[in-house]
Formats: sequence, C-alpha cells, structure tokens
Amino acid sequence: MIKRLLRRVLRLGARPDHDVIPKAKHGIGRERLSNGARKVCDTLQGAGHQAYVVGGAVRDLLIGVRPKDYDVATNASPEEVHRLFRRSRLIGRRFKLAHVMFGDETVEVSTFRAGNSDTSPDESDAEKKPASAPEHRPRRGTGDHARSGAMENARLVDEHGRVLRDNVYGTREQDAARRDFTLNALYYDPSTETVLDFHNGMRDIKHRTVRIIGDPGARFREDPVRMLRAARFAAKLDFTIEARTREPISKLADLISNVPPARVFDEMLKLLLSGHAASAVRQLRDDGLHHGLLPMLDVILEQPLGKKFVNLALEQTDERVRVGKPVSPAFLFATLLWHEVLAGWKSAEKSGLKPIPALHRAMDDVLDAQTDKLAIPKRFTAVMKEIWALQPRFEARSGKRPYSLLANERYRAAYDFLLLRAESGEVSEDLSGWWTAFASAEADDQQLMLLAPSPGQSKPRRRRKRSGRSDGGAPQSGPAPE
Ligand code: ATP
Ligand code: MG
Repeated sequence: MIKRLLRRVLRLGARPDHDVIPKAKHGIGRERLSNGARKVCDTLQGAGHQAYVVGGAVRDLLIGVRPKDYDVATNASPEEVHRLFRRSRLIGRRFKLAHVMFGDETVEVSTFRAGNSDTSPDESDAEKKPASAPEHRPRRGTGDHARSGAMENARLVDEHGRVLRDNVYGTREQDAARRDFTLNALYYDPSTETVLDFHNGMRDIKHRTVRIIGDPGARFREDPVRMLRAARFAAKLDFTIEARTREPISKLADLISNVPPARVFDEMLKLLLSGHAASAVRQLRDDGLHHGLLPMLDVILEQPLGKKFVNLALEQTDERVRVGKPVSPAFLFATLLWHEVLAGWKSAEKSGLKPIPALHRAMDDVLDAQTDKLAIPKRFTAVMKEIWALQPRFEARSGKRPYSLLANERYRAAYDFLLLRAESGEVSEDLSGWWTAFASAEADDQQLMLLAPSPGQSKPRRRRKRSGRSDGGAPQSGPAPE
C-alpha cells in the first residue's frame, strides 16, 4: 500500500508540467530570431544560466507576424545579466530588469518571477512603489528552486485584490504561471529550437483564442490592465476572447480606475498604436466595455459626430502603423478629445468668453479632466494644445497670416487635423482644399489665392471674422514641444 502510494507520488512528480514542442512541429528555427535575442540567450546559456525568448515574440513568430521586440527570461539575476553584457543597463525601481543593447536593438531581459503582476518597469515607476526589491544573488548554475527568493512583505494586495507589490523571483514554472494569457506563456529555447508550453498556449494559438491563465476573475482583479490587454490581443491578432475569460470583464471593468493612470495610459497607447485600434475600440464598445476601461472614450463614443471623427482618426492611424509610417500619439489623443474640446469651447463662449480665450479654457478643462484618469504625459498634452490652438487660424486666408501659419512648426500636424475635421463633415472641404492648394502653390499663385475670395467666403464676412475669432487674439501655441 505504501509502496503503491510512493510509486504514485513518484510518477506524479516525474510527469512533465509542460509540453516540449520540437521544431518539426512549430517550425521556428533560431535564425528567425533577431540577432540580439539570439546573442543574449547564447551568452546567458554559455555562462551556465537558463535563457528563453518569451512572451509576444514567440507568439508572433508562431503566428507568422514579425515580432516588434524581444523579451528574454532567465534564471540569472539582473546584476549577473548586466555583468555579462558590456552594453547593458539595469532599469526599473521596483523590479529590476536588464536592457541589453545591440546596435539599434534593445532586448529586455527579466529574471524568472513568481506572482502575478506585470513585468513592466514603467508600472513600478508609475505606482511609485518603494524600491524594495532586495538584491537577489542566485548562485550561478544552480537549479530553479534555489532561485525562489520569497521575502517578507514581498506581495502586497489592495482591497480589490490588485497586486500592489510583488517582489519575488521564482522558478521557470512560476514565471510562466504569472503571465497573463496562455499565448504569452510560451518559452523558446534557441539552443534546442524547442518551445516549452506550460499552459496549452500552442493549442490556443491554433484555435485563435485569447485565454487567461488561471481564474479569470482573480487574474483581472490582480491586475485590471489585463482586461485592456485581452481586447488588444484579440483585435491585433484577430483572435476571440474565450468565453470564460470574457465573462467577468464587464463586471470588473470599473477596477481599471484603481490602476495608476500612467499605466492605463501606457496600455491605452499600445492598444491605440497596435495597428488595430479601430477594431479594438469597436470590440470594447460592442461589449459595453469602453465605460471604465477607456475613460477617455466614454463621452466621445456616445456622440454621433464625435464617433465618426474618432473612427476616421483610428482608421487612419491603423493604416499608418500597418504601412510602417510614424504615428504621433499626441495627434491621436488630440483627435480623440477634440469633440469634448469643441463642446467645451461652445459653452465657454456662451458664458461670455471671447472665442480664443474660450478655446483655451476648453482645452485646459478637457485635459485636466483626462489627466486624472489617464495621465497623458505633458510632452503629449503640449503638442495636443498646439494642434488645437492652430485650428481657428485656418479660417484666416488673407494678408500675412496664412504665411505665418505655414511657417509654424506644428503646421503639418494641424493641417492633417484639419483634413480629418473636413472629412468628418465638421468644417467644409473647401477650407481644407484651400490649404492643400495654398501650401503647395508657387509664391505668385499663393498671392493670387490670397486676393481671390475663397469659395463660400464673402468679403464682408471675412472682415467681420478678422476682427473677431481669427485675429482678435491670435491663439498662442501651447508650450514648446520637448
Ligand atoms: P507586444 O507584442 O504588444 O509587446 P507582448 O505580449 O510582448 O505584446 P508586453 O507588454 O511586451 O506584451 O509584455 C511581455 C510579456 O510579459 C507578455 O507576453 C506577458 O507574458 C507578460 N506580461 C505583460 N504584461 C502583463 C500583465 N499585466 N500581467 C501578466 N503578464 C504580463
Ligand atoms: Mg513585448
């Protein structure tokens, strides 16, 4: 009887807790990795450590998408990683990570962790958590278990179950279990070209499913940002959120408001710049999830006019991301909030303010309201203000003013913004068309354009306007960009 029990225990112990998938099945050869990722793994393994490419890069390679960057997980401590690579630095206050640089590439190397919160170094800064991760000096070449550095007060949870602090190094298995979705918990070993699959991630990728690891409610409470991530991955990969994973989201959506705004902002930015923002936002809205999850979109998406404008902006951004053109987050946020600014502008004018001061009041009010929830960094709000403040100046199409607007360093962004306004029907296409022509005209033709009254503009009206909105107080641009 005891013998049988023992045999059972031994058999259980021997059962592998993960699948090892050979190259013949997944098809990723090590040459598909970036130079940096390969070198980091080779060097770490050469020094006796474990090292795997993890997270988004493995997922993307399996799906056939080119990874945008590489993360490596290892049982070496950040200090050990730092010592092995000349061009590396330690980052993150709460939880140290190493960044290893190869030319233009930066590989993020994190030490296996237990627990379930985000690895993002920004999170630690955003949450202003104490820099309390004690030095962890695992012995070189020892097994995983020697590296579990549980320590007192290492894990701190708020009343909603959100993990506030989580300072525990762990085993490879624990590292896999604390990741968010099964498709993000695959470990690629470049030396054997095998994929280690701890949570059936391969199956879920095959079935195009976003499935949270563990109990959905508990995992979303630990870190509500995962709800946004679920929507982002579903949209980006064209996957479906598994029913059990999706189920608690609408109930828990409000928990996002407990997350430090800087982190919500980072995750929102990733969602909006994923190249699939329009469908991600649509998905959130269809599920009734934009309330709370996307505070900024709450109001806007409810307004019919705003909706068209925002959708246009999102679709254009997606298009730019997909063809590899640069995208300006400030521009995008300026579009998302424009209809709120317009509404505020109107009501400030009604309350007796002159047009330009009214616009500035509206801009400040809208940004103040958003920073509470979303913490749009100053470097973005400064540019947003400039783009907004230049809009009334497009109305002035005579004298010297068009030239000074053209020479403004924000002209291009402000003009693109004007095109969107025209396309959504907020201003006439004549106006945007005039600027398109004016900007590309020869000097002589520009002169002629100034003299000719523009379509839809009678001279007397222009004169009235000149003494009013457009010229009365030339809107000051926002603070200089960074
Ligand atoms: P992307 O391609 O958009 O960068 P990603 O999956 O690499 O997607 P990252 O934010 O770079 O996303 O995170 C890297 C990995 O860290 C994820 O794949 C996941 O395993 C883990 N991770 C990130 N954020 C969380 C989180 N909030 N909770 C749990 N695990 C997370
Ligand atoms: Mg990544």
